[in-house]
Amino acid sequence: MFEENKIVLSERQLPCIWYNIQADLPEPLPPPLKPDGSIVKPEDLLPIFPMELIRQEVSRERWIEIPDEILDVYRLWRPTPLHRARRLEKALGTPARIYYKNESVSPPGSHKPNTAVAQAYYNKKEGVKRLATETGAGQWGSALAFGCSFFGLECTVYMVKVSYNQKPYRRILMETWGAKVYASPTNLTNAGREILKKDHNCLGSLGIAISEAVEDAATHEDTKYSLGSVLNHVLLHQTIIGLELKEQLKIAGEEPDILTGCVGGGSNFAGLCFPFVKDKMKGKNIQMIAVEPTACPTLTKGPYCYDHGDVAKMTPLLKMYTLGHTFVPPGIHAGGLRYHGDAPLLCFLVNKGIIEARAYSQNPVFEAAVLFANTEGILPAPETAHCIRSAIDEAIKCKQTKEEKCIVIAFSGHGFFDLFAYEQYLNNKLEDYAYPEEKIKEALKDIPQVGI
Ligand SMILES: *Cc1c(COP(=O)(O)O)cnc(C)c1O
Repeated sequence: MFEENKIVLSERQLPCIWYNIQADLPEPLPPPLKPDGSIVKPEDLLPIFPMELIRQEVSRERWIEIPDEILDVYRLWRPTPLHRARRLEKALGTPARIYYKNESVSPPGSHKPNTAVAQAYYNKKEGVKRLATETGAGQWGSALAFGCSFFGLECTVYMVKVSYNQKPYRRILMETWGAKVYASPTNLTNAGREILKKDHNCLGSLGIAISEAVEDAATHEDTKYSLGSVLNHVLLHQTIIGLELKEQLKIAGEEPDILTGCVGGGSNFAGLCFPFVKDKMKGKNIQMIAVEPTACPTLTKGPYCYDHGDVAKMTPLLKMYTLGHTFVPPGIHAGGLRYHGDAPLLCFLVNKGIIEARAYSQNPVFEAAVLFANTEGILPAPETAHCIRSAIDEAIKCKQTKEEKCIVIAFSGHGFFDLFAYEQYLNNKLEDYAYPEEKIKEALKDIPQVGI
């Protein structure tokens, strides 16, 4: 009998709305605060974000229309396929049915252009000439460079110096799409110069690069800042993943039992899950598992409190699980998961017990990635491999309990720019960092006493 391997929607079935979960929360999300404890007003954000994105950030409308200009670019790779991982199921001998929603088919190779394209569009529409951003491993920088190139915007990327030196190919991809890439800390900003004065050889961090990009935007009239995760409007744009998935599962005749995704700032996981959260709040039994690295265990070990999003404290205070804005995690290969905080919307739902979290270390994660590559063919990004691990563990549990669960993986990206990490794993050189308890204890002391 013929068995389907992929559930593919036509371009005509591409959703033309995003889902805003703020319409359906049991209580409003705690607002962003200033260091003096007062609430950040939408207009306070105008120097760094365009009006429409600020409006989306605070909106409680359930559905937000996607402009045609954005849908036009989305159609280059969307709708993305939903694959049934039959060979992986067979290798595990599990009665579970495993699916993965494949965001690696986008030109930059991850889910990140879902928001990069939207952000570039709204900035262009409001007369902005240039976007400034930060990037760690280079996934976000390349997605934004891609988005800017479609709408004729200049793009400046502050790339963490250690990655700039170690990962030239992501930089070349950004430059090919027309972006200007600098190794951060630079001497172009006060934030960068301050750091270099203290440590001339500083290799940078995501927190430093964010400070530089925000300062660049705040000090240039024609320039705005762009963030690739964490904020409400970013998660909103990513819900196109879950909305497509709902249609695809309907076609497959499936109801999901488990949704799992990796969490750096929370955007791809939220994009997959949020359209199903209302079903869960109405009583449907859907397990939602957010997966993070043990080296940066924000949801599993951090307190739920107000903290800054960056080292220089340029950003407002957000209520989130946090390891402290001064925490610099060990250099694991899943660079996209090395952020000290997480999206306030995701944290809120974890705090309410609707979403659960777990953490894995590098070697079991890469073991899962290699099994996936040898059964399904695609080489996962090290970030994505975290939730492949959780899906495999759940599928093995199903084998023991003889439960035929439907498991869906958020396949956030491919790992073709991460081959050095695979080489390290294949040669037994990958380190399993212990939970960095002392470093986190130190960083937690720097969390401001606001909003408590
Ligand atoms: C950036 C990235 C992530 C983590 O970011 P989220 O905002 O948590 O989705 C995960 N996977 C890939 C492939 C990435 O590029």
